[in-house]
Amino acid sequence: MKILVLNCGSASVKWGLFADGVSVDGGLIDRVTNHAQALRELMFEFDPSGLDAVGHRVVHGGLRFTTPTLLDDHVVEAVTKLVPLAPLHNPLNLLGIQLMRQQLPDVPQVAVFDTAFHRTLGPAQATYAIDIEVAQENGIARYGFHGTSHAYVSRRTAALLGKDPADANVITLHLGNGASACAVRGGLSVATSMGLSPLEGLVMGTRSGDIDPAVVFHLHRHAGMGFDAIEDLLNQRSGLKGLCGDNDMREVLRRRAEGDERAALAFDVYCARVTEYVGAYYALLGRVDAVTFTAGVGENAAPVRAAVLAGLERMGITVDPAHNEASDRGERLISPDGSEVAVCVVPTDEECEIATQTSDLLTRTQ
Ligand code: AMP
Repeated sequence: MKILVLNCGSASVKWGLFADGVSVDGGLIDRVTNHAQALRELMFEFDPSGLDAVGHRVVHGGLRFTTPTLLDDHVVEAVTKLVPLAPLHNPLNLLGIQLMRQQLPDVPQVAVFDTAFHRTLGPAQATYAIDIEVAQENGIARYGFHGTSHAYVSRRTAALLGKDPADANVITLHLGNGASACAVRGGLSVATSMGLSPLEGLVMGTRSGDIDPAVVFHLHRHAGMGFDAIEDLLNQRSGLKGLCGDNDMREVLRRRAEGDERAALAFDVYCARVTEYVGAYYALLGRVDAVTFTAGVGENAAPVRAAVLAGLERMGITVDPAHNEASDRGERLISPDGSEVAVCVVPTDEECEIATQTSDLLTRTQ
């Protein structure tokens, strides 16, 4: 099956062409200022003949979309209604969908939602402890994101351990520009660090992750900041960037190695938060087979992996320094042989997972 995958993000448009699950072509249009223009340019970059489907990454699927969904006018309308829950992301995903439906009207188009993998969260995890009626009226709940990545990486981890995904308990740490943790029990997401939006949880490149909600009221009342300014602060001027001026972990590591105190603080705050989630998810899962690092920081930054898991030997979690610091790429174990809990690095491939889910849906419905 020939599948085009489209990931229409805030600053870039990523695309990939897959034949029977194998990547055959792809590209990235970077620093996009006009998405419609970028999408039209994209049409000249690949050969649409013989295309079986287009798989679209859609960030927010709300409570309704729990599986990949064939796009028709009704589904587009429903995704449009979810825009208030993901104002920074869903409008761009919708733009990609609209343009591709116009350009390729005879090709089935499928939406694969970032939130879908987390629809197995139980009420204890999905519910925020605020007035329950206010929450229900306004769709306030933990939805979770990076679902295609956590699904792919946890499944590949089980394969790396030679286990059936249904028998594997894995803590997945997606540490990229955005970052989230997920507790996966037997192939199902049971807890995740992002919530109503991708702002909650871990410290990220430019996002704060968890903070006391009272910070918002304090900034509003005492610093005279409006809500848009506070939203911008927490999304764009926080995280590593807010703490030391750099949002790229490579720069943070370089400056820290040179003795820069701000970079060292940013590193420590970042790693400590991940450690806290590992501990919390260990407690929730009861038994953990593997902790897996993925995405730009998780796949490449050995000092981050070492710091996150330092001191967890009593939990059966150890990192072998030589394995951790080796310049290997690809799926690998970085814990000592025979460890109680495997520590893994698994490169994520969200486009491949979207292509797989898209072709699975078509196969089931044809
Ligand atoms: P992603 O969102 O998965 O593409 O991750 C992007 C982020 O990964 C960048 O902003 C960097 O902070 C980080 N990154 C990429 N390569 C490296 C590297 N070699 N060492 C440390 N961090 C890296």
